[in-house]
Amino acid sequence: MNPLSLTRREFLQSTAAAGSGAAVAHVVPAGLFSQTTSGAEPVPAWASKPMRWMQLTLVEDDPIHYDPAFWLDYCRRTKSDGICLSGGGCVAYYPTQIPFHHRSAWLGGRDVLGELITGCRKMDMTILVRTDPHATYDDTKAAHPDWIAVDAEGNPRRHWASPEMWVTCAYGPYNFEFMTAVHKEIMARYRVDGLFHNRWDGNGICYCVHCVENFRAAAGLDLPRAASMQDPSYRAWQYWRQERLLSLLDLWNSEIRAINPASHDVPNGGNVALSSIDALEITRRAPMLVADRQARSGLAEPWLIGKVAKEHRAVAGDKPIIGLFGVGLEEKYRWKDSVASNAEIRIWVVDAIANGMRPWCSKFSGTLHDERWLKGVEDLYNWAARNETYLTHTQPLARVGVVYSQQTAWYYGGEQAAAKVENYGLGWYQALVESRIAFEMVHDRLLDSAELARFKVLILPNIAVLSDKQCDELRAFVAGGGSLIATHETSLYDEQGTRRKNLALADLFGVDWTGKSEGPMQNSYIRLEHDALPNSPLFAGLEDAPRIINGVSRLEVVPRQPFAETPFTLIPSYPDLPMEKVYPRTAKTDVSCLYLREAVGRVAYFPFDIDRTFWEVLSADHLKMMRNTVRWALNEAPVFEVDGPGLLDVTAWRNPGSITMHLVNLTNPMTMKGPYRNFFPVGPQTVNLELPAGVEARAARLLVADKAISVERKGSAIGFVVPSVLDHEVVAIDI
Ligand SMILES: [Zn+2]
Repeated sequence: MNPLSLTRREFLQSTAAAGSGAAVAHVVPAGLFSQTTSGAEPVPAWASKPMRWMQLTLVEDDPIHYDPAFWLDYCRRTKSDGICLSGGGCVAYYPTQIPFHHRSAWLGGRDVLGELITGCRKMDMTILVRTDPHATYDDTKAAHPDWIAVDAEGNPRRHWASPEMWVTCAYGPYNFEFMTAVHKEIMARYRVDGLFHNRWDGNGICYCVHCVENFRAAAGLDLPRAASMQDPSYRAWQYWRQERLLSLLDLWNSEIRAINPASHDVPNGGNVALSSIDALEITRRAPMLVADRQARSGLAEPWLIGKVAKEHRAVAGDKPIIGLFGVGLEEKYRWKDSVASNAEIRIWVVDAIANGMRPWCSKFSGTLHDERWLKGVEDLYNWAARNETYLTHTQPLARVGVVYSQQTAWYYGGEQAAAKVENYGLGWYQALVESRIAFEMVHDRLLDSAELARFKVLILPNIAVLSDKQCDELRAFVAGGGSLIATHETSLYDEQGTRRKNLALADLFGVDWTGKSEGPMQNSYIRLEHDALPNSPLFAGLEDAPRIINGVSRLEVVPRQPFAETPFTLIPSYPDLPMEKVYPRTAKTDVSCLYLREAVGRVAYFPFDIDRTFWEVLSADHLKMMRNTVRWALNEAPVFEVDGPGLLDVTAWRNPGSITMHLVNLTNPMTMKGPYRNFFPVGPQTVNLELPAGVEARAARLLVADKAISVERKGSAIGFVVPSVLDHEVVAIDI
């Protein structure tokens, strides 16, 4: 039985609780989500082989303007070994026979898609064909009005950017019937390796006749009127939508594989942590994971692409992770024909590679309006091709894992998921990058002992929603010698998003919640108890600090029994105006701001939002407190130590025959906003790298400076110096 087939009865059971006064209560239908990272099938060779992808997204008038020979030559010059080509959906670039499949008005009698496929086949490239089903035309609407998405007022939805077009319903016959026929036709004509689906997952709640009927049949409910997880109908719709979309992928997959058994669907993906579709279920259905995060925008940091890579890797198993990048500015005004600075493109792509992604260059329009990006991508791809054997990125060496939780984003964060959930994780991410501590991300539904075996420390950044089973897995991790760091409301809510009376992990933390919370706190501080703990490693870098700023929100908790050490205590808020009144009313309390326990493993619990506050304020004192806590929890030699100036994103990998270490230099006035203009070298960087047991370093080479370096054996580690890092340096250690 398909575990995703929800019966109406299951839906009714799951929604009944929600109507009984517990506003948030809602049962996840049993068996909706499985707990595996990968399907039974091995990764096909066509998916595992390509190391450098190119995507050419044609625009409708390209057939008479663009130069296919140029693009085929550019693929050759960049040594691209995978390609994604526009096929159909919104516009067909081949002589389709399917009614309402709109051929490019400039196609004439040509087969543009076929011409490109023929050229790419001669270069032995893996070939995906891109389809985009999200918009259609008047003639389609006239013949099939029920294929068009409908808004809450009952009106068919015009396309927001191309008002002559209509938005299609993703959950009904347009996708299930029409697009299935398109996909079958493309696969039958070209027998390509796979189909890449762009914007296939809909545009929010649709009120078309099919959605009304299908949702009522499945859930026994009317469609929700607003997107609120407090609304049982909306929760049920979220489950129903996921089931529809996952079954859509299954349908497309089975239909194209009936034609070409070696082929596969490849759905476009993006941000995992805040995705509304379950990452494990998507991953089970894809031979490779494509993360569409094209560039920075707004206040996004350059390491963000690395975070996306780590989130995908947490669920990917042995599937390749592809970093889909653009060459333009990525802002809400959507200058899709723009070209970003070469430095900005480079820093994004080298950080993606450093974090285990294979680059995928996405270009819109075969007709070039600005050629300035071409040489930069060509240079980068040629460097990556020369050093391909060191960039396979088989196994990260990190011993620290940062947990992310889609269920916390859904059921606790809701519409405020960025502020209530994501900003905590971002705080840890920034702190660990600044501290040059090797780390990975961990999906919260993969906390069993096998998944966690490679980690010594797990960090739970306000992972509020945890089931009893997940809490048991975390207890087992600590009982097995692992260390845990948790903040704020971690484990205060069950898997349905219902608040518990106490923290489920109260036993691990050694504290109980009193039921009271405080915040936002103004003008509150943390006192460092130097007198009681004169040489505490938790005060490293803070030896001369009598007190530091507090966070903004905290839970009031009381210890179950006295703690051996209380290094940080609360100085409660006091008035911040008038200035004459700004003096502490209480100089010292015995209220701890960080609870430290040594069970088999070590446990550190911050009852306040240090991580979220750090992300908001970026106080160096909070950074030191977080960093010192990680080192205390780690309680072993770190994978690497890198001493030298600057902000570096450092990663280390074990590959067949080598250990590869990346140092990405993020030091730049534009790091926290705006495209990089150029780079500023930092160095020297003195590196100490722990070698895995039984591994000997034979030789080391800098892959960017292109020269050998000497390494010095220091017990179980090796030491070496990287003289200077401009944009990035990669140290390849043959073992
Ligand atoms: Zn619909």
